[in-house]
Amino acid sequence: MQRFAVTALLISVLSSNAFAAQSTGGLDIYWVDVEGGAATLLVTPAGETVLIDTGNPGDRDPARIHQALTKLAKAKQVDHLVTTHYHRDHYGGAAALSKKIPIINLYDNANYAEREREAGAPFGDYKTMKVGKRIHLKPGDTIPVKQKGDTKLSITCLCARQQFIKAGPQHQKNPYTGELKKRRVDTSDNANSIVLLIKYGDFEFFDGGDLTWNVEEKLVYPVNLVGKVDVAQVNHHGLDSSSNPLLYRSIEPHVVVFNNGDKKGCQPLAFLAVKDTPSIKAIFQVHKNLRKDKQHNADDSHIANLKSSRECEGHHIQLSVSPDSKKYTVKVDSRGTSKTFETK
Ligand SMILES: [Zn+2]
Repeated sequence: MQRFAVTALLISVLSSNAFAAQSTGGLDIYWVDVEGGAATLLVTPAGETVLIDTGNPGDRDPARIHQALTKLAKAKQVDHLVTTHYHRDHYGGAAALSKKIPIINLYDNANYAEREREAGAPFGDYKTMKVGKRIHLKPGDTIPVKQKGDTKLSITCLCARQQFIKAGPQHQKNPYTGELKKRRVDTSDNANSIVLLIKYGDFEFFDGGDLTWNVEEKLVYPVNLVGKVDVAQVNHHGLDSSSNPLLYRSIEPHVVVFNNGDKKGCQPLAFLAVKDTPSIKAIFQVHKNLRKDKQHNADDSHIANLKSSRECEGHHIQLSVSPDSKKYTVKVDSRGTSKTFETK
């Protein structure tokens, strides 16, 4: 009798998860450790998965992302994959991942020919990998995620290929004045990154890929096209060629996450730009910065991986927004850290 009950329970668990990922009820965000690349996984309240970037080519990153999808999110597919730009630490794991788990919709700039040389050899596999549908993402486009419950989820493209969303009544003129030094024009694909704003009720999350200095300014000045967010992924892993202080001062995040590597990103200017932003309440890092400038680190309790990339176990950071969107918790399981914040 008891055995029967257990079997029946298992069947019901399996069937309810057959087509949907397992969510904690609200919106979950996982920063998968891809050693200084990017792989940010959203699991929606309706159980869909939205993956932003796929880390590096090779076996390691697709395996870690696959593990996050199947073990953490209990997902059977990637419903929406966004490639922010064509650098191998952002698109590199996609082709191998597509062999492990179905990718339904792929969003990118889709101007392949122009970036062929810069993207490098693995780009051939990316262009021909099997996906349900390839979609060109333009500013103002939204990713058609399913809704569940009363709290609305939206994912909007604010900027792509240095083209911006049209200013609407919700966008304010930026109160900051004065001249900010421009940098040399960035001709790399970093400047063309897709920038996403994820809204879940009151909660807002900014992911700007590897956007660089001059375009970061244009995004918020003279009109702030982002608004004020709760959480930001630091652009470009926190490299000094990005992380314009004007961006962070304008979007006023409470929490930021560096998707850095042991020696990549979390650089001095970028770290200080974020740390000196008055709104900041907490800084989290996927990796500890193991360069000589070790003062540019958050507290160890806020860092998922302390060891060098060679010995790294690939721990993730998880953020869970409550179903009413009034609060969110950032968990660094590897350090036993859990911190809850109220949304703005
Ligand atoms: Zn990158």
